[in-house]
Amino acid sequence: MRIVAPAKINLWFSVGPRRADGYHEIVSVMQAVSLFDELHIEPADASTFDVEPAGWAPEDETNLVVRALRQFSAATGARGELSLRLHKNIPAAHGLAGGSADAAATLVGLNEFHRTGISKKALEKMGAALGSDVPFCIRGGTAVARGRGDDLSPIASKELWWVLASSGESLSTASVYEEFDRGEPTSLEDPFDVADALARGDTDRIAMNLRNDLYPAAAALLPEVEETGRALREAGALGTVMSGSGPAWCGLARDEAHAVDVAGTVRSDAAWVEVACSVAHGARSEVA
Ligand code: ATP
Repeated sequence: MRIVAPAKINLWFSVGPRRADGYHEIVSVMQAVSLFDELHIEPADASTFDVEPAGWAPEDETNLVVRALRQFSAATGARGELSLRLHKNIPAAHGLAGGSADAAATLVGLNEFHRTGISKKALEKMGAALGSDVPFCIRGGTAVARGRGDDLSPIASKELWWVLASSGESLSTASVYEEFDRGEPTSLEDPFDVADALARGDTDRIAMNLRNDLYPAAAALLPEVEETGRALREAGALGTVMSGSGPAWCGLARDEAHAVDVAGTVRSDAAWVEVACSVAHGARSEVA
């Protein structure tokens, strides 16, 4: 069985103060895009877990695939030796929810593999215990996320084309939030304009209303972050925004040809560049 797990980008990321439970209250617009990790699940004589390319994510107990497997087994009682092979395309610690996408793929895949028939809603609830972005990674599409990011309301979006880019370094989400807390507090704001522009398919207005409150904190920790954003703008992206806690950036393009063109130019300035479009689904199994 092969499960594909889309990366997530944030078109809007408004961050409030830290809550008593340690999480920050957020209002975000999340979108699933066509950059996929792949999880292969097969029956086996002895359980194995491998990550390829080697080094793209931990191969031990800390990997969200292993944690999701444990969670699923504890909740359902499902047992059996399995070979789990994770092929990563989403760079880790880039603000693209790679780990959460893999946790989502594991829950969705095991539910199908064991024919446990758990509803999507219940899987999302199980996923929320593994990470705030996991419910969105199960659901996919485009959604406004509130609370700590797991309270989701789907919204309409026409197909959008993006150029994703980074300088190749990774940024820890925890350290970006720590830096954010040292700065001036920002007020929590609803994404009215960007949500309306998404519904109308008004690409120029979407481009004008992208926002990420974590950007100053990420740029303070990693100066290369600023350079990637500038490179995307100079290459002709209609609008740019850092995704999540960074350092990956999203450059909005008019269409696929424009995205390919922008990506070609940015490649000389950024270590990692991908063209991706919005997708309407979350983690799901696909016939090989
Ligand atoms: P988010 O956008 O949700 O804040 P992120 O994209 O910045 O997250 P991840 O790619 O999920 O971050 O990786 C964060 C850390 O999680 C990594 O540094 C890695 O040690 C750990 N991790 C555990 N499992 C995985 C996985 N399957 N893929 C990537 N990283 C993983």
